[in-house]
Amino acid sequence: MLDLTTDLTAAIAERKQHERFRQLKNVAPVNAVEISWDGKTYLNFSSNDYLGLSQHPLLKERAIEFINRYGVGSGASRLVSGNNEAYDVIEDKLAKLKGTEAALVFSTGYQLNLTVLIALAELEVSFFCDRLSHNSILTGVSFSQAKFARFKHNDLADLEEKLASFRTKATTGWILTESLFGMDGDFADLARLVSLSQRVGTKLFVDEAHATGVFGENGMGLASQHKGIDLIMGTFGKGLGSFGAYIACSKQMRDYLINFCSGFIYTTALPPPVLGAIDAALEIVPTMSKERKHLLALAEHAQTEIKSLGFDVGLSASQIIPVIIGKDLQVTSLAQYLADSNIFVSAIRPPTVPDGTARLRLSLSAQHTEAHIEKLIKALKQWRAASKS
Ligand code: PMP
Repeated sequence: MLDLTTDLTAAIAERKQHERFRQLKNVAPVNAVEISWDGKTYLNFSSNDYLGLSQHPLLKERAIEFINRYGVGSGASRLVSGNNEAYDVIEDKLAKLKGTEAALVFSTGYQLNLTVLIALAELEVSFFCDRLSHNSILTGVSFSQAKFARFKHNDLADLEEKLASFRTKATTGWILTESLFGMDGDFADLARLVSLSQRVGTKLFVDEAHATGVFGENGMGLASQHKGIDLIMGTFGKGLGSFGAYIACSKQMRDYLINFCSGFIYTTALPPPVLGAIDAALEIVPTMSKERKHLLALAEHAQTEIKSLGFDVGLSASQIIPVIIGKDLQVTSLAQYLADSNIFVSAIRPPTVPDGTARLRLSLSAQHTEAHIEKLIKALKQWRAASKS
């Protein structure tokens, strides 16, 4: 007979044995780039709050205004009675900023990717997704039961080969990628993907979770610079400072998803304060080009300095900088060393990233200063010197 306790103990022991057991930490924000944890204050390089908007007075003010106007909960799904009038304003703003006919807000990005892909699969499709795409995309593809293949990261020759050997005439092929990859900080070549997709007659889905707020016109992502992307998704929980996600697409696709996407239909609508924060973020993000410039200058400086210490930062060209160490144990010891210097950076280990590529994932914010980066570089240098001796 199966014994649940024995099974759970074995699974947990396996994670512990490989230094991959995860535990929650209680952290409290001090400001946009510092947190307190266990009585100590840390400089935080582990947040996706790329513009520091989670602490912005306008977002807080609008969230409170929406609470006072609408309450703290939405009470039902959007198709029942939870469709606050603010959604129209937000979706119109989004469609304009993304340059698409329409937009549709979802409760979370994970739920969006998972269930939009499942809804698309009701239309006889096959999926071709970049190997390093986010777990929500990979899980959506496998749950959908559609035929799928994963192509080597950013390798269009491999994608073309997969399309030629796996695609059947009876299905619509969808290519799935992130525009800025969340664990590696490198970019997909959207221009080449669009042209390949048009040449071979497939559709293109682009996840802009990490580009939203930081890259592209008005800071609203990279996809709007290319005609020919059929579905764009992005999130409000990272560069836009609060919570939730969106699709930018055609009016017809919006109608389809409202009618067929379970993750849209069967879930409670976002709470009013979150809608208030989103509304304010969409107002100010287009005006934050100075902050974006500062962030990208900091990122370039950090990449150069960290590389010059002999660390592998992969192909990062953004505010996300992996410091690829390889062995799980070594990366946890580096994260602990930094923590001892009051610097908070999470160690990212498999299965989140491929085996042998355990890393620190540094994510920079426009609220970081040059002095913050110097502090980080000094600590990395000291660890390197200590680990060699
Ligand atoms: N896509 C990518 C690329 C992500 O990194 C994430 C979040 N880590 C998501 C989707 C999911 O978004 P959310 O946090 O809103 O669920």
